[in-house]
Amino acid sequence: MDIAQALAEARRAGVARLDAQLLLAHRLGRPRAWLLAHDDCPLDAAQSDWLQAMLARRAAGEPLAYLTGESEFCGLSLQVTPAVLVPRPETEVLVEWALACLAGATMATAARVADLGTGSGAVALALKRARPDAALVATDLSPEALAVAAANARRHGLAIEFAAGPWWAPLAGRRFHLVVSNPPYVAGGDPHLPALRHEPLQALTPGGDGLDALRAIVAGAPGHLWPGAWLLLEHGHDQAAAVQALLVSAGFGPPETRYDLAGLPRCTGAAWPPPVARR
Ligand code: GLN
Repeated sequence: MDIAQALAEARRAGVARLDAQLLLAHRLGRPRAWLLAHDDCPLDAAQSDWLQAMLARRAAGEPLAYLTGESEFCGLSLQVTPAVLVPRPETEVLVEWALACLAGATMATAARVADLGTGSGAVALALKRARPDAALVATDLSPEALAVAAANARRHGLAIEFAAGPWWAPLAGRRFHLVVSNPPYVAGGDPHLPALRHEPLQALTPGGDGLDALRAIVAGAPGHLWPGAWLLLEHGHDQAAAVQALLVSAGFGPPETRYDLAGLPRCTGAAWPPPVARR
């Protein structure tokens, strides 16, 4: 079988041409463009057996990133395993907003930043790469996820502290200038969940209405933020009003919402107000 025949095989298996090319490029250790110019290049038996197996898994809905073990986020190539959610492009909105907060902040010490529920480490790593002067701590409930995140930090030579546990639990007694989180927010009965069955369910949904993790993060935030600190949260396309209301009732300043490239409200955040000056 040559490359052209392998791509025809992928089409018969119902796998998108781009995915098939990315799988082959990964296996052959070549850029995708190379495949186009060498489509008469033969695959050996091991390569074509591997491809058949991967095409079957891809056709069954497994994310491409789990098949190659790689994903790209904010220009960083990250290791991903089924222990972590595949980083989504919409989460880059959270990173851009966080960087804008850091750019606008003035503080006497290095900015202390926390990423709650870091998964692959995508958000924490993107922030640390852009702001090496900031002190980053990234948490996750899952030790398996933290191992992936730590491997990604090593791979990119980024110094990040990792701590295991739910939401604020591993950060007792610590305050931050900026906290970001992309928590599980899909509602328990969401019809999209079955299509995401290859990814860790606890990273996708807290069950119920999907807001429990966001509630827990907002509820615990006041004890962990310096005055003026921002809390930025990714959420579902229909949750912006609910997250704004949570922030307001917890005592935050006026909430703001940012939109993703699909035009959907995707991140909501607010600043923890400085103490009111007394007369
Ligand atoms: N944006 C993801 C999805 O809809 C969900 C991510 C999350 O729950 N944090 O697939």
